Amino acid sequence: MTGIQEPEDNFRDKLATIDQQGRRLWVYPTKPVGKLYTARTILSWFLLVFLFGAPFVRIDGNPLLQFDILHRKFFIFGFIFWPQDFFLFVLITIAFVVLVILFTAAFGRLFCGWVCPQTIFMEMVFRKIEYLLEGNGPRQRELDHAPMSAGKFLRKSTKHLIFFSLSFLIGNTFLAYIIGTDALRDIVTSSPTEHMTGFIAMVIFSGVFYFVFAWFREQACTLVCPYGRLQSVLLDANSIVIAYDFRRGEKRGPVMRGQDFSQRGHCIDCDACVKVCPTGIDIRNGTQLECINCTACIDACNRVMSRMKLPPGLIKYSSYNRIAEGKPLRFTPRMWIYTGVLTVLLGLIVFFLVSRSEVETTVLRTTGSLYEELEDGSIRNLYTVSVINKTAETLPLTLEMVQPQGTLTIVGPPLDVPPQGKDETVISVQIPRKQIFSSNSTVIIRVMQGNVEIEEVRTTFVGPDPREHHEEKNDDHQENDND
Ligand code: SF4
Ligand code: SF4
Repeated sequence: MTGIQEPEDNFRDKLATIDQQGRRLWVYPTKPVGKLYTARTILSWFLLVFLFGAPFVRIDGNPLLQFDILHRKFFIFGFIFWPQDFFLFVLITIAFVVLVILFTAAFGRLFCGWVCPQTIFMEMVFRKIEYLLEGNGPRQRELDHAPMSAGKFLRKSTKHLIFFSLSFLIGNTFLAYIIGTDALRDIVTSSPTEHMTGFIAMVIFSGVFYFVFAWFREQACTLVCPYGRLQSVLLDANSIVIAYDFRRGEKRGPVMRGQDFSQRGHCIDCDACVKVCPTGIDIRNGTQLECINCTACIDACNRVMSRMKLPPGLIKYSSYNRIAEGKPLRFTPRMWIYTGVLTVLLGLIVFFLVSRSEVETTVLRTTGSLYEELEDGSIRNLYTVSVINKTAETLPLTLEMVQPQGTLTIVGPPLDVPPQGKDETVISVQIPRKQIFSSNSTVIIRVMQGNVEIEEVRTTFVGPDPREHHEEKNDDHQENDND
């Protein structure tokens, strides 16, 4: 007999917020109070400033963060990624995923509770407004079950008006992450008819955020978020999670006046940890899919422990093994492997970022054009030249032939590539027939900025089969001989 009450496992068969009939059970969490909640509040201010400010902050004229899917341009901390840098973008995404996996294997869902925008907005913005207008959890429940009155109508309508305004603000910011702040300003300052698509996107985003924060809430974490679902395979007994110290807490039970805790568990079964939980679970049952690691139960239990004059930490950050067997936290082989993969990926990213070209030139034969035979016997091809400039300054560029001998003429506008932009022109390349040794030969073109070589690019030059030329020549010789 250990005296430890084994948790029943049937809680794993159902979600805490859905009843047997599949109906939603609305959660009315009590407002948390404590050191961790204060720390999360302070961190949330910084994160909110970052989330709302990132598309507006500029580094060398580039947004700090922007994911311009429409123009296939991504800005990450001022770095611009074009479709040509797609492999780099993919590497960064994979590295981020590995980082999240490693982080989760080691530290559980720390990200969900402290950094995830869903939690930040829900618990630190929308929930706080609800506490302000409708009172603490139990008061909210009372209000919801009370018949409609002028007071209830006023509170509810004010809340939803504020919720929708905030959702509109979040929706606009989200749009700025995609289309950029200048395009957003255009949409906001013009009539909806002038930017119908943008206006519709704005309404949809605002509606989705309003739906999520006013109604869907914790279900975004428990039913939708893939990361939440993944934690069951990422966590193991050594992962640090929000854990109830069952060795210390059991056998639980209500406390009697003057009771001696040396003969019983420290959990007084007050349910304070359950009442504050925004996902409605009882962490004493063990790690659960719904737990977003918000730490509210730690704060609640620590207050109870303090009142009972017991040490804090009955619920705390810890691993199952540490609690069950008193083993110290350790780096598992799985974590070492993830760390190795992450190190390799980060090394590759740094290498490619440092070595990636500041200017990327593409020379492609102009669509639909064939080669042209000129009167002097030379062959001409037309090309479209596209140059991407990843630097912060305008680049006036010229082009010259390197190989084979021939003439390169810019027939389109001169290349004047704007900073972080793209420019295009058309060139003609003319090569004497005697320099052509194949119907598909390679041409090397040098891109110059003044006297400075920027890069050399290769393209294909098409022409007649040179054997025809030799046959024609032989025929001419024969005719001359016959004459
Ligand atoms: S708050 Fe602490 S003492 Fe109260 S039920 Fe939860 S674990 Fe037990
Ligand atoms: S169990 Fe605790 S940490 Fe997990 S969601 Fe509930 S209150 Fe937050």
